[in-house]
Amino acid sequence: MSKIASLEGKINSVEKKLWHEANFIQVLGDPSKWEYTGEVVDCLRGAYCICGHAIRYRFLISYNGRIEGVGSECINHFQNINPEMFESLKLADEKLKKEIAEAKKKAHELELNTKIVPLKEEYDALLKVIRTRVVQLRKEGRYVDYDLYITVYRHKTKEFVRLGSYLKYLQTQVEYLKPLKDKMIEKYGIPQ
Ligand SMILES: [Zn+2]
Repeated sequence: MSKIASLEGKINSVEKKLWHEANFIQVLGDPSKWEYTGEVVDCLRGAYCICGHAIRYRFLISYNGRIEGVGSECINHFQNINPEMFESLKLADEKLKKEIAEAKKKAHELELNTKIVPLKEEYDALLKVIRTRVVQLRKEGRYVDYDLYITVYRHKTKEFVRLGSYLKYLQTQVEYLKPLKDKMIEKYGIPQ
């Protein structure tokens, strides 16, 4: 960024801040008298910040029985005109953002699990058929192809902490085992 561009950026952000401060004074009177109520409301849609922007989460502030709502983006504009409320709003905003991130993570994990469960069943079923047949053949004293042999006697299911990695692993395994099972049945027949 050039010096002028960076200066222009600074002027814009100062202007933005001043505009908001003036606007807050107009709406709230003396902004320093207002307090954060400790309440955030998830309005989904149709809610507005005191600056006029559409917002989803309304941080409720009050003074003298009056209640107004502020959006997350405007919290910073209280830094000079009400430092105390700014601090409590900032904490509330951080807490909310953490909760949202946590909820997103959980939803993602749930989604992964709904894919993992049937895939693990498929994986187990494939291994079971191969294992059963190979063990039978070995009991009969017959040799089997090396890839079948290692799948039954050398393969150990890996474990993963990350669900995404586990899902990928299972997908790769199932892709490998499916044709292996078909090949086995074609060559050695189904388990007795
Ligand atoms: Zn706003």
